[in-house]
Amino acid sequence: MEAWQEQMQNHVNTLERISEYVNLTNEEREAIEQCDVRWGTTPYFASLMDRDDSNCPIRKQVIPSKKEQVNQYGMQDYLIYKENRDMDEDRPDTIARQYKDRIAFTVLKTCGNYCRHCFRKELVVDKSLDLDFNIDEGLRWIKEHTELREVLITGGDPLLLSDDKIEYMIRKLREIPHLEMIRIGSRLPIVLPQRITKGLQKVLGGYHKVPIWLNTQCNHAKEITEETSKAVWKLLTSGINVGNQAVLLKGINDDVKSFQELHQKLLTVRIRPYYLFYLEPAPGIDHFRTPVEKGAELIRDGIRGHTAGLAQPMYVIATNIGKVPLMPDYYIKEKNEQEYILENYKGQTTKLANVE
Ligand SMILES: *Cc1c(COP(=O)(O)O)cnc(C)c1O
Ligand code: SF4
Repeated sequence: MEAWQEQMQNHVNTLERISEYVNLTNEEREAIEQCDVRWGTTPYFASLMDRDDSNCPIRKQVIPSKKEQVNQYGMQDYLIYKENRDMDEDRPDTIARQYKDRIAFTVLKTCGNYCRHCFRKELVVDKSLDLDFNIDEGLRWIKEHTELREVLITGGDPLLLSDDKIEYMIRKLREIPHLEMIRIGSRLPIVLPQRITKGLQKVLGGYHKVPIWLNTQCNHAKEITEETSKAVWKLLTSGINVGNQAVLLKGINDDVKSFQELHQKLLTVRIRPYYLFYLEPAPGIDHFRTPVEKGAELIRDGIRGHTAGLAQPMYVIATNIGKVPLMPDYYIKEKNEQEYILENYKGQTTKLANVE
């Protein structure tokens, strides 16, 4: 058995096991005892939690909270609505569609870490929604839809599939003439970097005219280790581009210092920030919710101008009609018939001609 498979076999998902890593507060203990949905993480990710601080940013993403039973802004049957599953064209359960040229291909319901803030929680955490993930049926549908140029393989976490299954899927997708690129969404480079094995490198890697882009999810600098760095290096040297999709989480990364550190540290391990997501209105995750403006303010106060432009993600909300940018337009202070007044991160202004 490989190291990553052992990690999954020893998933940390009982009171006894989690107590090996942290001294639980009474509140955490009660939340775990009352928790009737999925939770748990890998021994590797558990070892990154602070033993004594229940405010640890990793701990909050791993250990259930009683606040999950409260719901104010979340929509019931959120995922059905968000992924347009009860309307328009007839699609297999594996296919989620919002755009003409690309689709999300959901292939698995298991994860390395059952993130407490997950927007797919009805499917992967609560299990109140059941979908039938038949990969061959999905592949047939993709083949018939010649308007597609990209497939985004997601889950759950698709890299938890065996090397053989992944090889099969990638090979079948690359045989479809209209596909120009493949994207993979996986949190494993962060929660289970041991998964990036020589075998997986062989399956995903090498020169090919249909490239693979991978986006992971890292929400705090503390999640980044030497192991992360090596896993990303292996992906990059296999020809796979690596980006990050962070989620804006109250009490985890919604202060300027944590936010800046996260995005700077991602670049030091060669991960390019791609998106910052506003927390979606899934039920029972309101305790992570910030005001909408927060993400734009963090980019204004901690990233733009303050550090490398490469560190800046695009701030968006993923909705039923696709992703909508929530970037600030503070930069244009004024516009008249002759000119624009532009402001930089220090509050200095400059002018630009208004060209008709
Ligand atoms: C996020 C998403 C995509 C990809 O969107 P990009 O803006 O290209 O990253 C495609 N399809 C669905 C259903 C999605 O949710
Ligand atoms: S890895 Fe992704 S799908 Fe799985 S629980 Fe976390 S956010 Fe949800």
